[in-house]
Parts: sequence; structure tokens; C-alpha cells
Amino acid sequence: NVLADQIAAGEVIERPASIVKELVENSLDADSKRVDIIVENAGLDSIRVIDDGIGIAADDVPLAFRRHATSKISSRKDLFRVQTMGFRGEALPSIASVADVELTTAQEEKAAGTMIHLRGGETLANKPAPARRGTDVRVTDLFYNTPARLKYLKSPHTELARITDIINRLALANPSVAFSFTHNGKEIFRSAGNGNLQQVVAAIYGIQAGRKMLPISGEDDDFKVTGYVSLPELTRASRQYITITINHRYIRNFELTKAIIQGYESKLMVGRYPIAVVNIDLDPVLVDVNVHPAKREVRLSKEPQLTKLISQTIRNRIATENL
Ligand code: ADP
Ligand code: MG
Repeated sequence: NVLADQIAAGEVIERPASIVKELVENSLDADSKRVDIIVENAGLDSIRVIDDGIGIAADDVPLAFRRHATSKISSRKDLFRVQTMGFRGEALPSIASVADVELTTAQEEKAAGTMIHLRGGETLANKPAPARRGTDVRVTDLFYNTPARLKYLKSPHTELARITDIINRLALANPSVAFSFTHNGKEIFRSAGNGNLQQVVAAIYGIQAGRKMLPISGEDDDFKVTGYVSLPELTRASRQYITITINHRYIRNFELTKAIIQGYESKLMVGRYPIAVVNIDLDPVLVDVNVHPAKREVRLSKEPQLTKLISQTIRNRIATENL
């Protein structure tokens, strides 16, 4: 149902960055160790995401473009993942309803792959194709059939900034995955995928920044907090350099962001914020699932306990640094 798909797309596929996010999260869900993102003209001309993940079986390829056909809900843990990762089997059909999509995939290195081509929700081709292991999705002609949405897009400069921001966050949340991001033929960012979060921080925020990050670690009965936070002398004029992940999934939560800032007590100047990448490991049962799946804003039970742990962990770490 193309119309239903377009409506669903309206909720979540607002701009090129949303497509990048959905495609990369699919690659991460597929246990990829490498994700290459190639974008032309801030995504208005083309968005391509190539991964080396588990691929899709030939029979399942058309299913992947059917609404609510997710292969991912089978346990409570998965439910949390689906919650934060988006989208309950709506991303691909939504994207395909408002663009031209070509997906090539294979499950094994030498086995035959599959190529499917959709445009405006219609399948134009679905056939065997040579492919390496993994999935290669290419999205072009974005919003060609929904001119209103095209009109809402900001300048290419702004759209590119949004794409870059989401790729940065996903790379910070997944230091064991090698990311590359190329825009108009120029490499913007690359991470090694060796699990070294500090290196990813340095690649994104600069070598100097990388040197001024402190590892943090703290836990209580319910939560484990790890990551890197900047020394109080290294700040930025915006909170957007604070990245929070839950079980290594990028989320947004106002209270947790505040808790990180409060960990610095009065050591920050007014209007200045730290650079931070903080992961919280927790039992998914503590995540409130009554939040719109497209939103990254996540609610937690025991939030006051967690904010206290975060602030304290950072406060203690910075205090040790000053000894
Ligand atoms: P969801 O991610 O919520 O399941 P999507 O529409 O994003 O829904 O994807 C639909 C299905 O297509 C997924 O459940 C998965 O089985 C398959 N899929 C999509 N992208 C990939 C990929 N890069 N690698 C392997 N499988 C994929
Ligand atoms: Mg998805």
C-alpha cells in the first residue's frame, strides 16, 4: 500500500539524514563490522550505505520492503532494540515509497546475491545478482513524488550537517565498527573499528580533543556507566557534543544530559558544555517503551538513581584528575 507507506514515511523520513540513520542502523543490526556511507549533494542526489553484515536471503528480500515485516522482534531485549533503533519494519518501505531504491545483498561471500529495485513503492526488478557478503542500498531521487516534503528541506549545507551529526553519533556508539563517510567524492570521516572509543572521539572532534578526554566508569546494582568525558578546560558552546548511548544504542534524554553537565559542578563556564560519550548498560526492562518509536527521546525508570550515578562518576573522575 503505497499511500500508507508514504504516510509512514512522513513520520520518520523527513530528510536525507533520517535515511542515513535508518540504513546505518539496519547495517548495525546485521552485525556489520564495516559500514561505508557515500553521499552526493547532501543526500539530495544519492545516499548509499554498504555493509558487510549478514545480508538478506533471496526469499526475504521482497519482505523487507513490506510494512511491519521486521525480522527483529523475538525477545524482550529485541523489543527494546526495535524501540530505540526506530521503526518496526517501516523504514525500507517508507524510504522506497518516496524515492528510488536499489538494494543488492548476499548472505555468503561466494553465494549468488539478490538485487531489488523499487521506485515510488513499486517493484521494478527483483533478480539474482552477483554480490559480495553484505548489503548495499542506494537511494536516489529522494522525495521526487512528494514535492511538499522536498520543499521543507533546508540548504544542502544544513542537510549535510545533519547527516554528519548522525554518522558521528553512530560511530561513537559503535567503536568496534569501521565507519567511513564520503561526501561528493571527498572522505569526511573514517573510524578504525578497533574498539578504541578515544580514537573515534579524536577522529570526530580533533586530536587535541582526543587527548583531553578522561575515561569514566561507575556502577550500581542497576546501571553501569562508561565512556569518555572532556576535562573541564575543553568545552564547546553547545550540548550537541554530548552523546549518550544505552546498551550502545544512541538515544536522547534531557535529564541524563543534564546529569553529565552537573558532574562538572561549577567548573564549566556559563554557556559552555563538555564533550562526552557516555554509555549506560542496563536491563532493557528499565526502558519505558511507551515512547514514539521514531523519537530518540527515551524515558527510563529509576532515572533519578541513574542521574545521580552519572553525576557522581564524572565528579569523582574530575576530582582525581586535580589531585
Ligand atoms: P526494521 O529494521 O525495523 O526491522 P526495516 O524496514 O528497516 O525494518 O528493515 C526491514 C528488514 O530488512 C529488517 O528487519 C531486516 O531483516 C532486513 N534488512 C534491512 N537492511 C538490512 C541490512 N543492511 N542487512 C541485513 N538485513 C537488512
Ligand atoms: Mg530498520
